[in-house]
Amino acid sequence: KPITTDMVTLTQEIDKYARDKKYEIESLQVREEYRKEFLGNISHELKTPLFTVQSYILTLIDGAADDKNIREKYLDRASKGVERLIFIVNDLDMITKLEVGDLSLKIEEFDIVELVSNVFEMFEMKASKKRITLTFDRLYTEPIYVNADKERIQQVLTNLIVNSIKYGHDKGTTEVSIENLIKNKVIVRVTDNGEGITQNNIPRLFERFYRVDRSGSRKEGGSGLGLAIVKHIIEAHDEKIYVESDLGVGSEFSFTLEKTK
Ligand code: ADP
Repeated sequence: KPITTDMVTLTQEIDKYARDKKYEIESLQVREEYRKEFLGNISHELKTPLFTVQSYILTLIDGAADDKNIREKYLDRASKGVERLIFIVNDLDMITKLEVGDLSLKIEEFDIVELVSNVFEMFEMKASKKRITLTFDRLYTEPIYVNADKERIQQVLTNLIVNSIKYGHDKGTTEVSIENLIKNKVIVRVTDNGEGITQNNIPRLFERFYRVDRSGSRKEGGSGLGLAIVKHIIEAHDEKIYVESDLGVGSEFSFTLEKTK
C-alpha cells in the first residue's frame, strides 16, 4: 500500500536526518574542543620564550647593560629566545598551510640517495657536537629515483634526523637506510639508539604540540610540531609513516616513497 510505504520512507528519512544532525553537532563539538586545545597550546609555547626575552631586556634596562660582559650575555640569550619564537612561528605557519591543504605538492623525480647525503652533510656538525655518528649505508652507490616533493621530503628527513640527534645519547648513532619494497616502493628508515619512547606515548607522537617529557624536551628546544609536520607531508603523498621504539633502546621512524624506476 503506497501510504504505508511513504510513511516508512518518511520515518527512515527523519531518522537519517536526526542521525546526520547528531553526528554534525558531535563533530562540531569535537572540532571546537580541538581548536581550544590548539590555541591553548600555542599560547603556552609562545609564552615561555616571550617571558625569557622580556626578562633579559628588563634586566638590561634596570642597569645590567652597564657591564659589558653581562650585556653581551643577556643580549645573546634574548636573541636565542627570539630565534626560538621565529622557529615556532615558522613551524606553525607550515602546519597551518598543510592542514588547510594550501600547500600543494611539487612532485618531481629526484635521487633520494643524494638527498639523504645532502641532509647528512648539513647535520654532521650538530651531531658531532653531541658526539653522535651519522651513518648512511654506503651500499647505495647507485641513485634511487623517487617521485615526490623534494623540498618537503628534505623537511621530513631534517625533522627526523634532528630528533634523533636531540633525543640521542652522547656517543650514539643515527643511521639512515633505504630499502626496496615490493610494488615500486622504497622505505626510508631513520634509526637511533637514543632515549627511546614508552609504548603508551607512541600513538600520540604525531599530534601537534605533543611532547613525551615536556620539561626534558623543552630543554632540547623544539616546538612539538616536527612530527606532526612529518606525518602531514607523508600522508599528503599518500604514503605511510611508521614508528617503532623502546625506552632506553632507541627509535626507528620510517616512511615509504614511490620509485620511478
Ligand atoms: P619536538 O619539537 O618536541 O622535538 P616533535 O613533534 O618532533 O617535537 O616530537 C614529539 C616528541 O616525540 C618529542 O618531544 C620527543 O619526546 C619524542 N621524540 C621524537 N623523536 C624522538 C626520537 N628519535 N627519540 C626519542 N623521542 C623522540
